[in-house]
Amino acid sequence: AGSGKFFVGGNWKCNGTKDSISKLISDLNNAKLEPDVDVVVAPPFVYIDQVKTSITDRIEISGQNSWVGKGGAFTGEISVEQLKDLGCKWVILGHSERRHVIGEKDEFIGKKAAYALSEGLGVIACIGELLEEREAGKTFDVCFQQLKAYADAVPSWDNIVIAYEPVWAIGTGKVASPEQAQEVHLALRDWLKNNVSAEVASKTRIIYGGSVNGGNSADLAKKEDIDGFLVGGASLKGPEFATIVNSVT
Ligand code: PEP
Repeated sequence: AGSGKFFVGGNWKCNGTKDSISKLISDLNNAKLEPDVDVVVAPPFVYIDQVKTSITDRIEISGQNSWVGKGGAFTGEISVEQLKDLGCKWVILGHSERRHVIGEKDEFIGKKAAYALSEGLGVIACIGELLEEREAGKTFDVCFQQLKAYADAVPSWDNIVIAYEPVWAIGTGKVASPEQAQEVHLALRDWLKNNVSAEVASKTRIIYGGSVNGGNSADLAKKEDIDGFLVGGASLKGPEFATIVNSVT
């Protein structure tokens, strides 16, 4: 981890019921969390209100997606304004499942980021390469292109956390090695330095996601340019998520 405040997000995806979420909240409320870490959870939209009203204020809430502009006649969508109304401080955008399962494109994701930021939400901006792209030696090209789409759209980087999530590592149990993750994080920081500014490069937190768990997080957290984690599966278990939050030394 570098000098910025460590950031750990839990992406609950499309999981949970009122009962299982109530148990998860109580486990998180009872967990000991290192004070110097930003901790955020992203429940499914329909449970955000339940989570916000019962979880400790120590933990901030994120949406898993948001509509690209002001709400209105967009059936099935959730607006940034609605997320804020429920007390969310963050939104995850550009997650690989939205890119590759649902088909969201770079430019659309960039616009979503710009709109969320303009309304005061923080953005967890996800990027990451597919296995075939890594094997073809295109990891940096793909990540830089996805990062550029955010850079082209956003007026400021003050409220953005970049989540590098190699798609081959998400939900597969195949975590990137600390060296593999560090190599990409450093390249992303260099890209920001060369294409945005040295200040943004040094201040923007770059977190890693993809099969992070209580057993591998400490080694990843030791790397200079890994400033936190976005956690899927392991964030559904309160004690394990707490271990990951506390893995920064
Ligand atoms: C994610 O979906 O953001 C993620 C990293 O999932 P998992 O931890 O389950 O690989």
